Amino acid sequence: PEVPFYQALFEQAAKHPERTALIFMGKRVSYGELVDLIDRFGAALQRRYGIQKGDRVGIILPNSPQNVIATVACQRIGAIPVQFNPLYVAREIAYQVKDSGCRIMITLDLFWQKVREAGGVEAYIWTGAQDYLNFPLNILYRLKAKPPRIPPSEATHFMELLRESPQGIQIAPVNPREDVAVLLYTGGTTGVSKGVMLTHFNLTSNVTQIREWLQIGDEHHTTLAVLPMFHSYGFTAAVGMGLSCGFTLILVPRFDPGDLLKTIAKYRPSVFPGVPTMYIGLLNHPDIHKYDLRSIKLCVTGAAAMPVDLLRRFEQVTGATIMEGYGLTETSPVTHANPRFGKRIPGSVGLPYPGTDVRIVDLETGEDLPPGGEGEILIRGPQVMKGYWNRPEETAEVLKDGWLYTGDIGRMDDEGYLYIVDRKKDMIIAGGFNIYPREIDEVLYQHPAVLEACAVGVPDAYRGETVKAFVVLKPGAQATEQEILEFCRERLAAYKRPRSVEFLPELPKSTVGKVLRRVLAEQERSKME
Ligand code: ATP
Repeated sequence: PEVPFYQALFEQAAKHPERTALIFMGKRVSYGELVDLIDRFGAALQRRYGIQKGDRVGIILPNSPQNVIATVACQRIGAIPVQFNPLYVAREIAYQVKDSGCRIMITLDLFWQKVREAGGVEAYIWTGAQDYLNFPLNILYRLKAKPPRIPPSEATHFMELLRESPQGIQIAPVNPREDVAVLLYTGGTTGVSKGVMLTHFNLTSNVTQIREWLQIGDEHHTTLAVLPMFHSYGFTAAVGMGLSCGFTLILVPRFDPGDLLKTIAKYRPSVFPGVPTMYIGLLNHPDIHKYDLRSIKLCVTGAAAMPVDLLRRFEQVTGATIMEGYGLTETSPVTHANPRFGKRIPGSVGLPYPGTDVRIVDLETGEDLPPGGEGEILIRGPQVMKGYWNRPEETAEVLKDGWLYTGDIGRMDDEGYLYIVDRKKDMIIAGGFNIYPREIDEVLYQHPAVLEACAVGVPDAYRGETVKAFVVLKPGAQATEQEILEFCRERLAAYKRPRSVEFLPELPKSTVGKVLRRVLAEQERSKME
């Protein structure tokens, strides 16, 4: 792993330039074409904008060839690509531009207004929803408005930069352990979003670990890349992994269950990394049985807990194996996964990756706990980040002697299989008892009428906090508050039971599909004030 992160991609391109690297909205880009475009774009960033080693370049694009080209081009010239969530509004974009200190911003025309409003950079590059590979993104983003006309004086067109000669690029020397290959911002599920510095060594190590763990060898796969590139899971485990291994990537710019079923049936991917909400979305789609999903061999799920019942149902429908894993942006992201060929334990996130050390420590004393003990999960390994961008204090809080304090509570069994109990910040304390809301979610998910559920702690004058359950019912299903409470009564100790249930049409989610427990809890708190 002591090499630049893009090296494996360039080696793949040298070996089989004709092979399809990317499929996007029906069009194909070969490995040979891809590396040529990358170096053209890199040359343009250097010559036209004077981008130098260490400069930050903002990218706010959905999964697309342009995103891949821009990201790798930055790495080739030593610049740091900063991935932005395309769903962000102007205020959020402005925060991240300022926090990372981006010099230029690369955007899609559909986002122009908010990106321009956010400001804060020297120059803009735009790509159009209709360009290059002719993709109708305006339909995908369900925007009624036509893309705006962007005056050439304000921003340069992406395609124009590809006219540069690929030989014009000056490839920057890389120190893999020191140099940052990407800035990815944490999901903000529990608090303010921070820029995570991942080095070339971090990313290369994680891809190597995934590859070894899955025993990929020389297999060729087609990966469904629907996880967004601005999140570490999509960035490393879908796109980075795929290109490093010479796979063919199907880049999907937006998750829509109906569209995804068609894409799977048409392009027949064998690898599908996803998050539970995606699998839930597909399973609940009325047309799921009309499509042949049996091309899928390997599914990896992570980022949030996968209800066990769901895992089984998805395996039945596709015949695929789902391997649940675990990780954080701070660990590139993968640290644990169930094995592809060995013993898989539903409900567990599996074993640590090769070269990854794990400790479980007592929340109060910080002492190591024996197997079975519940405490904070600590991780040490080559995939652990360099630190948070410009936040030495926050970095020092979570990185101590090479160990990353994850803020997650877990337990390990005798064989080293890890179980995620909950996040430290989500723990509910009711009448002195610790309650882990995830356990309550699991019970709620077992109810036949429940589509989605989320338990939160709400202020209570007597107990400090009590549990309230938010529930989304399946289409056409019915259940009353009393029924749900009764269901929980049979399955949970008295102190853990929800005291009330509220039915919602949907749950608030982050853009990677995580249920935002914090948002529900804050809403409850503000209602009571
Ligand atoms: P922020 O750190 O800003 O609050 P975030 O935690 O959503 O946002 P990520 O790095 O995207 O940022 O998510 C990592 C977290 O996701 C882990 O700390 C853990 O709580 C959760 N997680 C990941 N995989 C799993 C899993 N298989 N089961 C349960 N939780 C998981």
